[in-house]
Amino acid sequence: MNQPKRPSNPSFPRRRESSKANNPRSGHRHSRDVSNNSERQKHRDAPAAQGVATGLGSRLRGNDSMGAAVLILKAGREKSLQRRHPWIFSGAIERIEGAPLSGDTVAVCDIAGNFLAWAAYNPASQMSARVWSWDEKETIDAAFFRKKIGNALAARAALFPPLPSGEGWGEELADLTSSLTASPSPEGRGEATTSTGCRLIHGESDGLPGLIVDRYDNVLVMQLGSAGAERWREACANALWELCQPACIYERSDSDGRELEGLPKRCGIVRGALPESLEVVEHGIRFAVDVAAGQKTGFYLDQRDNRALTGGLAAGREVLNCFCYTGGFSLYALRGGAKSVLSMDASEEALQLARGNVALNGLDESKAEWQCADVFAALRKLRDQNRKFDLIILDPPKFAPTAAFAEKAARGYKDINLLGFKLLRPGGLLFTYSCSGGISEDLFQKIIAGAALDAGVDAQIVHQLHASADHPILLSFPEGAYLKGLVLRVAG
Ligand code: SAH
Repeated sequence: MNQPKRPSNPSFPRRRESSKANNPRSGHRHSRDVSNNSERQKHRDAPAAQGVATGLGSRLRGNDSMGAAVLILKAGREKSLQRRHPWIFSGAIERIEGAPLSGDTVAVCDIAGNFLAWAAYNPASQMSARVWSWDEKETIDAAFFRKKIGNALAARAALFPPLPSGEGWGEELADLTSSLTASPSPEGRGEATTSTGCRLIHGESDGLPGLIVDRYDNVLVMQLGSAGAERWREACANALWELCQPACIYERSDSDGRELEGLPKRCGIVRGALPESLEVVEHGIRFAVDVAAGQKTGFYLDQRDNRALTGGLAAGREVLNCFCYTGGFSLYALRGGAKSVLSMDASEEALQLARGNVALNGLDESKAEWQCADVFAALRKLRDQNRKFDLIILDPPKFAPTAAFAEKAARGYKDINLLGFKLLRPGGLLFTYSCSGGISEDLFQKIIAGAALDAGVDAQIVHQLHASADHPILLSFPEGAYLKGLVLRVAG
């Protein structure tokens, strides 16, 4: 029988000079006077926070001398890891050596004992482990998370124009952003790409499975969706607090996925204090954001550039925006010169924010109509009334979280798209989206083709869309491409 070789976990974690490694300006005074902020100072110096990191570090060291917990995969099941896919399902595990607890770092080895990855273990989930690192020499400690978070911030800085370095943001992030050249505005959108809302950490695609961090002005919202992310909550919060210097870190660990991970929901302030009101400006449009009660982390940042595209094509058109949330696409359409915009959502709270957003931007309220309705029923009603539109947006919630739900979801997508096609005037545009991880781009296009066929319309794809650049997709992790969109023009 094969005896797995022990992974050569470094016998002593190489504790990096993390602040120096990640911050070229370390040692310089922060632009914001932190001395007045006793709360911040308390956290910065908090021995408890250090204790968490050191505690796990020593456990890894202990594991090393005693034999680290090891997941040994079944023969042949190492292939997806070798392709650098970060998920390990329970069915792929041959056996576990040691008794790792939820969130513990384990070594993953093939059946012959060759090291494959360091991963976070979760006994409660079908997804038994998620990879932190492919590097055998890596130490998974607080410095590791600081480094990975710093990398993700630097990647955003390379994609966005410099962020304001004023109140609420420290020199570190401002330096990161200003040292890199901003990318030009997306072609034809004619707007500054500046946004004070940005996804800073995009889970697996940033090498941090289960960790989502969104920035809304000077507030960070953190969402932990895995046992590993949960274990390193303090280390991540500390790194974000120091690197970004926000006014607040708010936690929205209340996604449905937490149940599958065996984790209780948790929401609330992690550091600092929430400002009384919060808004983001994206492509020059202001949106109020409610990070405590809003959906997801408060706003749908992923549609930023797709909303801008809609705005540019809305002039003179009668627009129908289905699943409008706080008015995202509607506001762009109004600013873009739409003749009228009918917006629908099932959430009255979201619609209230949407109405407020119209006023916030000084847009013509008389052109905007808001309906609190179930879109499935409302579309049928519009069809029966023989209403017609020139531009329709369908941006429904996730119908299929995983491929197991794909069939049922496909029926939902077909239903609303068929009705959408029927409500369009000849030459009209349909902006249709799926944010279901369980529906591939290919399948989505097939569903839409079926809907057009049944509606009796010919349509062309004029744009194929994805999430904005702050939601990158790791090449080895196709699941990262959860948001797909098509802009279709029906024949005139
Ligand atoms: N397009 C929006 C995001 C949409 S999120 C933006 O750019 O910000 C999906 C929205 O669908 C949520 O606001 C949710 O309240 C709404 N929703 C979910 N099911 C619905 C239904 N059956 N009918 C109407 N709205 C629904």
